[in-house]
Amino acid sequence: MKLARVIHQGRIKLALVEEEGLEVLLLDRLLAHDPNPVRTVIERRLSAKELVDAATGRAAFDEVTFLSPLSQLVRNVFAVGKNYVDHAREFDTSGFNATSGAAAIPSSPQFFTKATTSLAGPTDPIVFSEATTSSVDYEGEIGVVIARECRNVPEGEALDAVFGFVALNDLTARDLQRSHVQWFLGKSLDTFCPLGPWITTIDQAPVESLRVRTWVNGELRQDAPLSDLIFSVPKLIATLSSAMTLLPGDIIATGTPVGVGIGFSPPRFLRDGDVVRVSATGLGELRNTVKVVIR
Ligand code: MG
Repeated sequence: MKLARVIHQGRIKLALVEEEGLEVLLLDRLLAHDPNPVRTVIERRLSAKELVDAATGRAAFDEVTFLSPLSQLVRNVFAVGKNYVDHAREFDTSGFNATSGAAAIPSSPQFFTKATTSLAGPTDPIVFSEATTSSVDYEGEIGVVIARECRNVPEGEALDAVFGFVALNDLTARDLQRSHVQWFLGKSLDTFCPLGPWITTIDQAPVESLRVRTWVNGELRQDAPLSDLIFSVPKLIATLSSAMTLLPGDIIATGTPVGVGIGFSPPRFLRDGDVVRVSATGLGELRNTVKVVIR
């Protein structure tokens, strides 16, 4: 199933995407007062049948506005740096790697996090102040949505802990990423994690079928299959869960492919009015417009 939250006739509703681009099923009453209904669906392990049975109507895509499927993040997005070979090389030679000197291709996953407050919807503006940063970059990625509380998950069983996948943009203020060395601040500006437009369950989004693409103003910048990851989805889950408990609704941003703005010479940072689209097979498309404010 493809699980979403939409605004329809002025109200926020849980929805299932029936046919991408065409129609959604509306679930007006199910979890209507739940502050984070998609996370509750994940946590309670509600089945596709239970959800379809709760449907109260239908709407065309152009009658709804998609929101971030998760209304809030319970904790930070877990993200992985340098998880595609060609991107690891472009980052290493960009001049924005404050830890250069380390191996270009990492030998273990390099985890960092993005603050919960960086969450944005699939069509929300990406907003930043020119007083804070002058080098904002896109990173189209596929996010893993964790299904259940788990710890010490063996790699061979890791896909059982996956609820599904979601498109996300790991926006990054490169100047802050470099000057603060730790990536947290440059990755965590408000609106720097557009997520959605829906979460597709793993049965409808097999790992080997997933591919992420990013366009800036219609120009294709990134295009790679998830199978190109240096550290696979099972490896990421096994590594994280060997150290810490994962929770239902946790998001792991799997890393970005080659083609980010700092890979160009000179770098091509995002500017006011730019439209960034991130799409992934079966996961729909983010479409966010950059809005630069004075302060
Ligand atoms: Mg990234």
